[in-house]
Amino acid sequence: MAIEMNPRVVHGLEGLVDASARPARLATGAGWSEGPMWAPARGSVLWSDIHGNRILEHSLAEGTTSVYREDVEFTNGRVLHPDGSIIQCSHGRRRIERDRDGTISEIVASFGGRRFNSPNDVVVAGDGSIWFTDPPYGIRIAAEGHLGESEYDDCFVFRYDPDSDEVRPVIVDIEEPNGLAFSPDESVLYVSDTSIASRKNGNHHIRAYDVVSGRCKNGRVFAVVEQGFSDGFRIDADGNLWTSSAAGVLVYSPDGALLGGIDVPETVANLCFGGPEGTTLFIAATTSLYAIETLTVDATRAGRTSR
Ligand code: MG
Repeated sequence: MAIEMNPRVVHGLEGLVDASARPARLATGAGWSEGPMWAPARGSVLWSDIHGNRILEHSLAEGTTSVYREDVEFTNGRVLHPDGSIIQCSHGRRRIERDRDGTISEIVASFGGRRFNSPNDVVVAGDGSIWFTDPPYGIRIAAEGHLGESEYDDCFVFRYDPDSDEVRPVIVDIEEPNGLAFSPDESVLYVSDTSIASRKNGNHHIRAYDVVSGRCKNGRVFAVVEQGFSDGFRIDADGNLWTSSAAGVLVYSPDGALLGGIDVPETVANLCFGGPEGTTLFIAATTSLYAIETLTVDATRAGRTSR
């Protein structure tokens, strides 16, 4: 009887990931890994160790892991701005901020005189506007920020326009918005609701909205993540959605069908595409950072090179 020495960990992702591939652990030792971002100018992945209140860096070329910054006020999600700076969420400072060559500055921290809860994840649209989610985890969980009160008694998704300095809620019907990403043409915004993290019968699904003139319309459930929840996700060049879950990485087609997944040894919180060709999927999973080669690239990278 043949003994399966290398059980497959990639399921049903023909054309997206080679069936024999498996995630490699690049680094470990974090408390709770989140917010991975490929930093092309550094040739490295930056990610948040939220419980460690620090940002870690793994150099792909060097194969080394180091502490990028300490005492970072509990950063979470981040995204590369087209100008090369990093836009990141700070639970502790309850704001969206910019890291430009190591110098941190505030972008936006409140709307209508009320501070945000604890911005969790962020994307930049093609028009330069900054969209982010604002769940309560950084003011409710001591290990992830500073305990405090919501100043608007809710959890919204916001859009900030750096040209006009206007910030406005664009989604108000999600209980606890968490991960977010645009479809390749930015006509659809996907946002996960992870309120099951706060209450037993809470939501664990991803919603989709039509984006019309900087506003979100026609909200509907795109996919229900049955194992755990979708803390963070990315969209590939074909519009497939790659999300974290308690079952590893799950991939959904643009019409919401579950295509398959990638087993990961630890609970996955978030992920990003990157590497020299943009085809490597980096996976932030509890204590560790993993990587696996794919046959696709991020929607935003594809969009920028084709414009
Ligand atoms: Mg998140």
